Amino acid sequence: MAILIKKGKLVDPASGCEDILDILIEGEIIKKISENIKVKGAKVIDADGRIVIPGLVDMHTHLRQPGREDEETIQSGTLAAAKGGFTTVCCMPNTVPCIDNPVVVSYIFCEAMKNAKVEVFPIGAISVARKGKRLSEMGRLKKAGVVGFSDDGRWVVNSQLMRRAFEYAKMLNIPVISHCEDPFLSEDGVMNEGYYSTILGLSGIPGEAEKVAVFRDISLLELTNSRLHIAHLSCRDSLELVKKAKKENLRVTSEVTPHHLTLSDEAVKSFDTNTKVNPPLRSREDVQALKMGLKEGVIDVIATDHAPHSKEEKELEYPEAASGVIGLETALSLVVKEIVEPGLLTLKEAIARLTINPSRILGIDRGEIKEGGIANVAIVNLSKKWCVEEKDFLSLSKNSPFIGWTLPAKVEFTIFKGKVVYKD
Ligand SMILES: [Zn+2]
Ligand SMILES: [Zn+2]
Repeated sequence: MAILIKKGKLVDPASGCEDILDILIEGEIIKKISENIKVKGAKVIDADGRIVIPGLVDMHTHLRQPGREDEETIQSGTLAAAKGGFTTVCCMPNTVPCIDNPVVVSYIFCEAMKNAKVEVFPIGAISVARKGKRLSEMGRLKKAGVVGFSDDGRWVVNSQLMRRAFEYAKMLNIPVISHCEDPFLSEDGVMNEGYYSTILGLSGIPGEAEKVAVFRDISLLELTNSRLHIAHLSCRDSLELVKKAKKENLRVTSEVTPHHLTLSDEAVKSFDTNTKVNPPLRSREDVQALKMGLKEGVIDVIATDHAPHSKEEKELEYPEAASGVIGLETALSLVVKEIVEPGLLTLKEAIARLTINPSRILGIDRGEIKEGGIANVAIVNLSKKWCVEEKDFLSLSKNSPFIGWTLPAKVEFTIFKGKVVYKD
């Protein structure tokens, strides 16, 4: 059945549109965008007082399937995505087995076709089993459908291997996504190295673990003129390196997570293991720098790094607990609260970092609302407050540091390829 979205404020960063318009969806496609559309027999969604935005695009999600279906599956992860307003998620390759060959890629596409609520694009591994020893079959991975290469969770320590990865990725016109962390500097660390790690008696990870890695990767980028996307930037110094590289017209882009924009290492005082993430929550100055980086366009993308973990992996002493938090269901609300409401970015600018920017980096035709385009749409009530409660998460894992928080911006509908996949 056709869907007619009435009187919503369309906020589409790709076209710059910010007007009250009706949107008619027929089949999987946006048929018409105009004022006052009249059509018989369509299901009408009254979006008066709501914003209508492109379905969000998360370029950094961990879906845990295959391998850890107790923590998340393609089905549950995409259900959580739909609830958060996402219609596209890119899944990182640190599954078991790893996404380092075409068989695993086709398994993911098959599972997604059967069970996913929204679209899934796999990211392929840079090295076989993410071990940093041999390159994966990057050409065959691209043919199978991966949209990026990453050994996420690990940095490619071997510079020669990384150089080759950049060269192949360039031929394939796919970005290399780097988890920038020198493992020797971060080895025993469990939180940011600084004042709070000292008073809490926890071993620290210095910002230099990231900075050193970012510097090496940008140097290799310069050597190869390939494309580099830096995952989850966390500190001011590495941000400065990205800024400089951008000024020199190197093809580097970067992302930040909602949790790194919201929390600082002070939050670890609670010893809540849901504040344990990798890279760690940094200092207040770093958080402020990340916000400025977002404003200045040094950071192009907000990505969740949605990382589900079971209670067994989280309910441990702080040093032993797994790193990572879930993020799909709270991302948009946190961005509105931390970035839009304080006036750091306009709503349109913030939505760009969650839609068209990641789409362009990955070279996928998503993240915008246009006539003839795929009908991926989220309808959001910005002023509706909601409380984050553990029982309400659709993700199989509940490891969120935001449980108990009251947030603005409730996703009321998510439409994927013309079908309502989430309704509040
Ligand atoms: Zn990572
Ligand atoms: Zn990750």
